[in-house]
Amino acid sequence: MAELEGLEFGKSDFVLLDEVTMEQFMENLKLRFEKGRIYTYIGEVVVSVNPYRQMDIYGKDTVDAYRGRELYENPPHLYAVSDAAYKAMKRRAKDTCIVISGESGAGKTEASKYIMQYIAAITNPGQRAEVESVKNVLLKSNCVLEAFGNAKTNRNDNSSRFGKYMDINFNFNGEPTGGHINNYLLEKSRVVQQQDGERNFHSFYQVNFYLSRGFLAENNNPNSFFLKTSNNDRSSHKAVMSALGVIGFSNEEINSIYQILASILLLGNVQFETDGESVQILGLEAIDHIAELTATEADSVIKSLLFRTVATGGGEVIEKGHTEQDACFGRDAFAKALYERLFCWIVNRINSVIEVKDYNPVLHGKNTVIGVLDIYGFEIFENNSFEQFCINYCNEKLQQLFIELILRQEQGEYQREGITWQHIDYFNNQIIVDLVEQPHKGIISILDEACLTVGKVTDTVCLESMDTKLAQHPHYTSRKLSPTDKTMDFQKHFRIRHYAGDVTYSVEGFLDKNKDLLFQDFKRLMYNSADPVLKEMWPDGQLSITEVTKRPLTAATLFKNSIVALVDKLGCKEPYYVRCIKPNEMKSPVLFDDARCQHQVAYLGLMENVMVRRAGFAYRQHYARVLQRYKMTCEYTWPNHLMASDREAVEAIVTQHGFQDDVAYGHTKLFVRTPRSLYTLEQERAAL
Ligand code: ATP
Ligand code: MG
Repeated sequence: MAELEGLEFGKSDFVLLDEVTMEQFMENLKLRFEKGRIYTYIGEVVVSVNPYRQMDIYGKDTVDAYRGRELYENPPHLYAVSDAAYKAMKRRAKDTCIVISGESGAGKTEASKYIMQYIAAITNPGQRAEVESVKNVLLKSNCVLEAFGNAKTNRNDNSSRFGKYMDINFNFNGEPTGGHINNYLLEKSRVVQQQDGERNFHSFYQVNFYLSRGFLAENNNPNSFFLKTSNNDRSSHKAVMSALGVIGFSNEEINSIYQILASILLLGNVQFETDGESVQILGLEAIDHIAELTATEADSVIKSLLFRTVATGGGEVIEKGHTEQDACFGRDAFAKALYERLFCWIVNRINSVIEVKDYNPVLHGKNTVIGVLDIYGFEIFENNSFEQFCINYCNEKLQQLFIELILRQEQGEYQREGITWQHIDYFNNQIIVDLVEQPHKGIISILDEACLTVGKVTDTVCLESMDTKLAQHPHYTSRKLSPTDKTMDFQKHFRIRHYAGDVTYSVEGFLDKNKDLLFQDFKRLMYNSADPVLKEMWPDGQLSITEVTKRPLTAATLFKNSIVALVDKLGCKEPYYVRCIKPNEMKSPVLFDDARCQHQVAYLGLMENVMVRRAGFAYRQHYARVLQRYKMTCEYTWPNHLMASDREAVEAIVTQHGFQDDVAYGHTKLFVRTPRSLYTLEQERAAL
């Protein structure tokens, strides 16, 4: 909270505002953005505004300035929280995590990369080769994951289309020993369809540089119905190839990756026609190439595109010809699944390299972790579908965690410790989380029920079921429930009042996306590939149709389970937050769109955050720990105190250093209002 720079740059911590009003908050945020100060604190939370220009604040000098320092010793920076998370991990053997949130284009991924770079820069001063290699793989994994998981959207030229949580493991020396990446819900619908002005995943535009066999090239441009624009990314291709090499992908693996990408693009060129009776494939040359690239037989490829094997009620197995519509659906599902499995395989392959091996806690001390979460922010589009529903649910869960960790925990602790506390009202979004995830009654359950019902259940029928079951819910509505609201269609839309705002979802396609059906024939085709890499991605292809589980978990349930697991994982770590704000829609470095920014400040809950922080105390610690660390700075406590309790001994230390007005004494802990007092103690201690 130090005023390290003049006030012409605004206040470096929102806690220092004269009055906590939205007006003052926005004024300060804007002033700092205009002065090129993109980071501001709320206590230990970093608020970051995307500068949309290269800033000279990430170099070695800056790293040196922040290394090992306390938050309040330097101007606000990502490096300072990274250091705080690192110190907590190293000094107190705490697992920590840095949660980065904000909407698309707000700067989350860039922030996560700077955080990782900082941690890489301050560790392994001895340059030990095995640690350097771990660091290298961790850093290079970003490049690969971005190539396969990012795409140009109308909001962001390099938008992450998946959620990412990365654990970095450290040994007792604080040196990175490995890591683990979890990925969440890749937006695979993009593989077969993109909105105007958007692109497919970056990786598809690199295929041509790898496979020069011509079947994809037309004037050196990839030619596929799955690609609306057809530009090529030569320089990023080079970077990806080099990163794959550093991580340790073999040539055979790299080959398979690019062949899979090419076959997906070629699938886009497979069209069907029907004479009313049977369905045929148009463009058979694409089939030959697909067979070659996937190391399968052309006949088998054709068969899996035109037929599906089904088990009849009597246990008989028959082949049923597709309608043209089924065939198109099957092809697209196949292309999407190929890409999704490829992506997950790449993540697992990276994990196998960075996984901590042979770690013996008895020999090596406690293994600690810093987690970095870079996950899609809240999304409101013109047309919101199943993907936005999942993403926004995920944000509700993360907001719930934020409330849990920062707000509720804070208030709870003051109450427990008997410290006077002015209650702060905040909106608890548990009710919305329940609306989505509650067993039997929640939207996911209703969707799943509809998916499992035999017979023709349509999206519309599902919407009716939601309307019936959720009619009373204060955060759910639809046109049927509010007939005067003309912004929604009777058969198509429902609206959720999210903590971040109202979102109207179109229920069209919800059931298909939730079922996420892929005919077993495609799985078997891939499992029987002569390419071992491809085969490895399809272990479930070995099941015959009669062995296939009848009720696989739905996409929404799988996603829910993964997010619940993520929240559990984050919940037991000491959290640090980076809240990213997108200043405008034009990617402009000078424009601060007041209304858009204010909306983000509101839904990120930043005002509540300031209020809680201001009402409270920056630091708190058990009396025994305070004593242990600072007893040498006071004559009454060194080497041992003779007082009735640790609390009294701590009072002696505080009084001796003269900041008794800056503290409160809880039942078990000392509470310090401003970090500066602690800083004084640290200096005293260091001077001895
Ligand atoms: P999405 O949710 O779509 O993945 P995001 O929050 O991850 O979005 P980024 O990709 O990190 O957004 O940032 C978008 C763009 O903004 C970057 O490609 C870069 O041009 C610019 N940008 C973000 N942060 C910074 C920064 N600190 N310095 C310079 N430019 C930045
Ligand atoms: Mg991103």
